[in-house]
Amino acid sequence: MTTALMIEILTGDITKLEVDAIVNAANSTLLGGGGVDGAIHAAAGPLLHDYCRTLKGCRCGEAKLSPGFDVPARRIIHTVGPVWKDGTHYEAALLKACYRSSFELALQYEVRTIAFPAISTGAYGYPKQEAAEIAVAAMLEYQDRFERIIACCFSERDAMLYLSTLQAMVTIGDRPQFIPR
Ligand code: ADP
Repeated sequence: MTTALMIEILTGDITKLEVDAIVNAANSTLLGGGGVDGAIHAAAGPLLHDYCRTLKGCRCGEAKLSPGFDVPARRIIHTVGPVWKDGTHYEAALLKACYRSSFELALQYEVRTIAFPAISTGAYGYPKQEAAEIAVAAMLEYQDRFERIIACCFSERDAMLYLSTLQAMVTIGDRPQFIPR
């Protein structure tokens, strides 16, 4: 039996995606930073910064919502990933919490199409393979409740890692249980 997956793996810039919501790998101030956070703030414009000021920060593993302002996505979900130390500081639980909090907030606002960057895998140093396993597991858990879930990778190499992770997680025996979109 084959089942269609609602998960897509893309290579590209998340700020360009026309979806109901993009997720930002923010820092706890929510006032902008480097990497994907800097790109989202630059693309959304200064009104995002003003709006985020009113959100009064966000704790690691939690998520907060803003409008998209000048990005094509209608909303931005800001979540704060864990900084990788050595794996014994609740990093995995906190990263899982980021995906779950973002999905739960998305459901509250009737988001049907959502795109995620690889949270914590840049400046925060989370090992990419372990992070991809957590991301894909969360996406599989929530896929029934969304029309499209996009893993927006910033490099072809990261996209290949997501693809092999997804294949490993949905393959039973040697028969793939999905149709890639
Ligand atoms: P963190 O601080 O959570 O590690 P970073 O922004 O440094 O966040 O990196 C998270 C991931 O986002 C990395 O894989 C990085 O390559 C990727 N990234 C950076 N810019 C963009 C972008 N414009 N679109 C999608 N992904 C991006």
